[in-house]
Amino acid sequence: MSFKDLGLSQALLNAIERKGYETPSPIQEKCIPVVLEGKDVLASAQTGTGKTAGFALPLLQQLAQRPQKHNRPVRALILTPTRELAAQVLEDVNDFGKAVDMRAAVIFGGVSQVPQVKAIRNGVDVLVATPGRLLDLIDQRLLSLSNVEILVLDEADRMLDMGFLRDIKRVLALLPERRQNLLFSATFSKDIKKLAQSFLHNPVMVEATPENTTVEKIEQRTIRVDKAKKTELTIKLIAEGKWQQVLIFTRTKHGANRLAEKLDKAKISSAAIHGNKTQNARTKALAGFKNGNVRVLVATDIAARGLDIPLLPHVVNYELPNIPEDYVHRIGRTGRAGASGEAISLVGGDEVDYVKAIEKLLGEKLSRDIIPGFEPLDPETAPEKKQQGQRPPRKPNPSGNPRNKNAGGSANRNGGGGGNKNKWRGRR
Ligand code: ADP
Ligand code: MG
Repeated sequence: MSFKDLGLSQALLNAIERKGYETPSPIQEKCIPVVLEGKDVLASAQTGTGKTAGFALPLLQQLAQRPQKHNRPVRALILTPTRELAAQVLEDVNDFGKAVDMRAAVIFGGVSQVPQVKAIRNGVDVLVATPGRLLDLIDQRLLSLSNVEILVLDEADRMLDMGFLRDIKRVLALLPERRQNLLFSATFSKDIKKLAQSFLHNPVMVEATPENTTVEKIEQRTIRVDKAKKTELTIKLIAEGKWQQVLIFTRTKHGANRLAEKLDKAKISSAAIHGNKTQNARTKALAGFKNGNVRVLVATDIAARGLDIPLLPHVVNYELPNIPEDYVHRIGRTGRAGASGEAISLVGGDEVDYVKAIEKLLGEKLSRDIIPGFEPLDPETAPEKKQQGQRPPRKPNPSGNPRNKNAGGSANRNGGGGGNKNKWRGRR
């Protein structure tokens, strides 16, 4: 299957080529023709499977083919849970949209609304937004959604996790009745199904699990080490492994700051990314990480949601999450788009129970290593009760994570890189 077979215009095919995509990902193959037909879509696919182009390409083609008003009201609305994700979706939409003369803009909170309002006034065909700022501008009567023809909810499960259900409902009520709806979600909880039923019309179900599921391509190991030695060990791993790009997770914002500072002192250029950082600082940190100026990005779970960091080779859990599903989301940052990756978890004496919970969710045992010179002395205790996370605990997803469906045994320790010729590759 090639992009040519999916019904896309020559202008978009050229843009796809410029972007360096050679073959469509499975979700793109399934999604693009259906969206082009104008149908509602309910799509389930993991992070890193190429959903953005899956909806952006056919959406742009549809808009380009239809008559356009000269004042360019918003005709497609893409809602995303986080600012970073919104910015990334905009980048993709712009890369493709320019080819068909479609204008896009992004709005999210935490920065001045002035340039955003100005962009809308100048006319935008596609608006990418987080729910809060969107409703804010609507309440100020600076934006109308009465011309929206296509609605996309990207990472709908994340939006619900982050408490956006009410905002989503408010937005839905502001849209014209007649429109096309696309809903993307990595998981299908009861709440997502309920939401989907509430506004999708006869949706086509699209599902795509990459042939090699993400987890299978990730080499996972845990290292038991005392809390007090974690920083030193992290520095050693980065230096000896000559890692050039590593994403490190901590449980708290404060912890992220502290670790980034210590790594910087050890001459490993680092930046922290979390909810207390200004939008500018976050964007700058992510850009620096992507262009190689920042070697280590230290992040909290929320900050890392949906971040598109292509072909990330190393993820370190400096602290384990108390919610096992978060572990899966974290390590999903590596081994994207067909590349293999390595996820290392540093396990303190009071985190052993977290490993057990994660193993239960994965349905497999993780390797447990001890590094010479870092032999643990701390006793193994129950996790501290203190709530250190930065969001209220959520109920674990009873259906488990579909990404782990095929995980099992030692089969997934081969590090990937198999000879599957059909595998689509991420940009480098
Ligand atoms: P998702 O939204 O499913 O998490 P993205 O749309 O962000 O995934 O895509 C993940 C990465 O793969 C991005 O870097 C994107 O540019 C790249 N990508 C998407 N589609 C293709 C393709 N057909 N060929 C190569 N790379 C692709
Ligand atoms: Mg996405």
